[in-house]
Amino acid sequence: MRAWLLNDTSGPGSYRLESIDTPEPGPGEVRVHLRASALNHLDLWVSRGMPAPHRFPHIAGGDGAGVISAIGPGVSTVAIGDEVVLNPSVACGNCHACLSGESPYCRSYGILGEHLPGTLADEVVAPARNVIAKPAGLSWEEAAAYGLVTGTAYRMLRRARLSAGDVLLIVGIGGGVASMGLQLGLAMGATVYVTSRDQAKIDQAIALGAAGGFDSSGEFSKALKKTAGRAADVVLESVGPATFNQSMRSMESGGRIAVCGATSGPKVEISMPYLFFKQIEIIGSTMFNHAEFLAATELVGSGRVQVMVDSVVPFEDLPVALARLDAGDQLGKVVIGR
Ligand SMILES: [Zn+2]
Repeated sequence: MRAWLLNDTSGPGSYRLESIDTPEPGPGEVRVHLRASALNHLDLWVSRGMPAPHRFPHIAGGDGAGVISAIGPGVSTVAIGDEVVLNPSVACGNCHACLSGESPYCRSYGILGEHLPGTLADEVVAPARNVIAKPAGLSWEEAAAYGLVTGTAYRMLRRARLSAGDVLLIVGIGGGVASMGLQLGLAMGATVYVTSRDQAKIDQAIALGAAGGFDSSGEFSKALKKTAGRAADVVLESVGPATFNQSMRSMESGGRIAVCGATSGPKVEISMPYLFFKQIEIIGSTMFNHAEFLAATELVGSGRVQVMVDSVVPFEDLPVALARLDAGDQLGKVVIGR
């Protein structure tokens, strides 16, 4: 089969298209012939060693959809020819965390394309429990594109207990998780505000249903309170030190801030009295469990949440797609077609 291989961590220019043996599924595993894959920033980060792949050569890619092409011993839940979507959240399935439904806390938790060979290839092998039926109304490109970002945003909003009527603030709109957070927040009945340094991205968010948007580099907590008449119940954060202080100040008492990333750096300083007097909750969140993946799939499959596909790039043109993602030019998901 063809696969885009990483042999080192010197950056996205290291991806090489090569021909390798097609993998065979082991017990409890299936092989999926991919009809489409989608890129995430993770595919850039692993190429730069942040984090470094566990072994070389490595196949990146967390998102994908396709047709079951082989099943391993003991698999009875799917059959060859079934059309499926991959859940990139891989765990042991047997430990206390997994059995209680919280696979992201599994000690052997991993992500397809980071800890395991991923979807930037013709075929991928995954545990059978990591494939679900492709929603009938989605194209292959849409089915490949929603998984990682929708699941991640859904878990953040669930853990932050977003309710209908809440004010939700999404800091740094434009990325995949933030964009899905906007749509999910609207579907859940929240009033959603966004921040960005790019007015075009704010305008696009408003076109999608956001109630307003503010400059990420300004005092957006004041702007929010002035516009909305109150502060936020829930804030989604992925920027870190550049915005965290303003994000904290953007919350009502009892507010929850869910954090899934820190693109501007790893450390922030917070005011402890502010934290406890305002009874703020800071919630770290990463990836999602299977139930959250199914809930995200239901929202996408039913059309309540739209999959935003920026572009579909042919498999052999992966470097073009990576460059587009790296430059931040995309509006929605960059899909690798077949
Ligand atoms: Zn486990």
